[in-house]
Amino acid sequence: MTCFCRMDPRRFRFLLLAVGIVGVLPSTLLAQQTGDFADPQIKAALQEISAGQIQSDIEKLVSFQTRSTISAQDGASISAGRGIGAAREWIKSEFERYSRDCGGCLEVKTDTFTQPVSERVPSPTELTNVYAVLKGTNAEDAKRIVLVTGHYDSRISDPLDKTGFAPGANDDASGTAVSLECARVLSKLKFPGTIIFLTVAGEEQGLYGSKHVAELAKAQGWQIEAVLNNDIVGGDQSPGQDPKLVRVFSESIPSNTTEAQLGMIRALGGENDSASRELARYIAQTARTYQSEVTPLLEFRRDRYLRSGDHTSFNEQGFAAVRLTEFQENFNHQHQNLRTENGTEYGDLPKFVNFDYVANVARVNAATLASLASAPEPPQNVRLETRGLTNDSTLDWDATADGRASGYEVSWRATAAPDWEHSQSVSKALKATIPVSKDNVIFAVQAADEAGHRSLPIVPVPER
Ligand SMILES: [Zn+2]
Repeated sequence: MTCFCRMDPRRFRFLLLAVGIVGVLPSTLLAQQTGDFADPQIKAALQEISAGQIQSDIEKLVSFQTRSTISAQDGASISAGRGIGAAREWIKSEFERYSRDCGGCLEVKTDTFTQPVSERVPSPTELTNVYAVLKGTNAEDAKRIVLVTGHYDSRISDPLDKTGFAPGANDDASGTAVSLECARVLSKLKFPGTIIFLTVAGEEQGLYGSKHVAELAKAQGWQIEAVLNNDIVGGDQSPGQDPKLVRVFSESIPSNTTEAQLGMIRALGGENDSASRELARYIAQTARTYQSEVTPLLEFRRDRYLRSGDHTSFNEQGFAAVRLTEFQENFNHQHQNLRTENGTEYGDLPKFVNFDYVANVARVNAATLASLASAPEPPQNVRLETRGLTNDSTLDWDATADGRASGYEVSWRATAAPDWEHSQSVSKALKATIPVSKDNVIFAVQAADEAGHRSLPIVPVPER
């Protein structure tokens, strides 16, 4: 079936005429279909993202021989450029270099803790997450955080092997390179909201690094609106790969849902509208706006079948978080000792990575981070009126606390549709009546600033 997703209003009207249903929608709605806004400053930044830089980052990470979380991190190993300690110091020095280039605009930090013994951690081990903070320029919006992450640890066949060559070029030097490249490019700009560029350790041993940051964020009340986890975004160049697609996994029922919330989700048909899923749709929308070379493929599942990643740690603390990953993984090139058997090459080497693809995925990330960090705060307390039976739907909401919204946009889609189908701008009003029955659609409201940057969409709660 044809999707009328946010298309040009004239084309939208033409299509409706063509299928003979234009009479069912008021013409005012057609006239008010909004076009997508691409910020020239963000567009220019995306041009700066370099496949060559990403290649050199990935090759550097591979040069540490192993980045196993339980590998060496003593001074001698760091000086010799071997092991996870050396990788960590290099990532930190890169963030510091970007910061020097922007007059100290990044705050480079580490989060170090001791991971106790577990199945894949044979003795208490120090883990270090490395991150850079690009603080927002607007006092109110600076509290709002968008975060991009990748794991810099690697592994081979035996997760307890701490000395064997574990290149981890795709898994996950590619995701680490995305965080680094977004930091390098976006640190040259200023945004009202805060962006955090994170790289974590401990993923392959049990998501330990991300778990620690997510718990820290929750305990310290970080106001994280979005987490983009890039894990295996190398676009492995094997048959079956589609370099035009990047999968975006998002959870359905939020991990920390209470019984009462679950009852509401069940009653309203809300299982397809977690904050993580709205984030996934926002990524798809942003990729369209910036005419991305890769198309986000929405996967309505928390992660690949029975598998998980660092976004899960953030989901479990109640944050909206998604995983970006290549269309098709080649398992011969993942978690494998380097070898050739019967003519098949095993191992996660840079030669299998498509650096142009990683750069395109980095652009989707950078566009999303920049759009969200530019946008006003999402509308507060969004409600859908349910008093009185009517086939129109009235929504109302409260103004954003930062006072930066110059208008709002109501979007809706059929209950069975995967993504937003229609939208209507409603200027500065805090209320809108849409001539569509709430029984048949799902609504959401976004705030937009003067320039057209849009917040994440907020789904209403029933107002009785
Ligand atoms: Zn991974």
